[in-house]
Amino acid sequence: MMINRLQNAIREQAAFDGALIVSPENRFYFTGFPSSDGFLLVSADRAVFITDGRYIEAAQNTVKDCEVVLMTTAATQIFELFAEMQVSRVAVEAGRMTLAQYQKYAVALEPMALLADSTLDSIICALRAVKQPLEVEKIKAAQKIAEDAFSYICTFIKPGKTEREVSLALDYYMLSHGAEALSFETIAISGAKTSMPHGVPGENVIQTGDFVTMDFGAVVGGYHSDMTRTVAVGKVSAKQKEVYETVLHAQKAVLDALRPGLSCAAADRIARDVITEAGYGDYFTHSTGHGVGVEIHEYPSLAPRANSILTVGNVVTDEPGIYLPGEFGVRIEDMAYITENGCENLTRAPKELIIL
Ligand code: ZN
Ligand code: ZN
Repeated sequence: MMINRLQNAIREQAAFDGALIVSPENRFYFTGFPSSDGFLLVSADRAVFITDGRYIEAAQNTVKDCEVVLMTTAATQIFELFAEMQVSRVAVEAGRMTLAQYQKYAVALEPMALLADSTLDSIICALRAVKQPLEVEKIKAAQKIAEDAFSYICTFIKPGKTEREVSLALDYYMLSHGAEALSFETIAISGAKTSMPHGVPGENVIQTGDFVTMDFGAVVGGYHSDMTRTVAVGKVSAKQKEVYETVLHAQKAVLDALRPGLSCAAADRIARDVITEAGYGDYFTHSTGHGVGVEIHEYPSLAPRANSILTVGNVVTDEPGIYLPGEFGVRIEDMAYITENGCENLTRAPKELIIL
């Protein structure tokens, strides 16, 4: 299914007639089979997955969309298979292949040419950006676990708990409720530290009047989820409330606008304009969102200088924030699936200000 999409793309261009895929992420994306080592060879009408003895039985049982071959002398095997496929120009993943691998295969595949500009990377990015229904189901399943963890953590957070305890409780909840892994190291920070967008949870003790920002996600079937919520403990100041409402307004304005045809730069600008108008433009220090899927950060990104256009099937985050150094910060993040008419918010967790 996924390999067919790459084969269609190979047919539609003339720069290369074979693709050599070495990265675990792209191998997994196309075969649906996770492995730490292996090669996927694709031409317009044939695809071969070479994997080693640790994986061969499982791969033969589960990989249906291509031939599965046991790895022996990888470089020679790759050369012989591409020769059988009558491939003469092999594209590689310029952004993911090491220089050592490049040099090795440039020699091993002679006289075939190795194409190491970013042609293949761009094609794969574009394919991966358009999620298929099964991929969206996995992202939704991952997101459900994270949201259940959020409901749980709202009963757990109280003055006296440390950031570390909150992050561990989120992790334990997700991993014991079906997450096969965490999307990334959970962020749970409190008080003045919330002004650091990617602060690391430590021994800070949560106090009345603190904001607690949590950015976390689960992995299901190889697909990631990503959400952020900022909650208050006990009470909030007028300024905390104002900043929270500004971020929420910006976040909702983007969600209202997301639709096929909207440029990613314009999506970013919507959030930035709301925050700038409220006087906090200098304190929104990162981009508005990013694609999510097999990796936690993937194409397309909602950033000021992004030059892509949203299309049906994209899954992107919407996560503006305001960070006031030495005071506090707020970020609110949902994941949205771009549909024909707009977008479906994949994040159901409440985001009106919660005071625990
Ligand atoms: Zn996040
Ligand atoms: Zn994110």
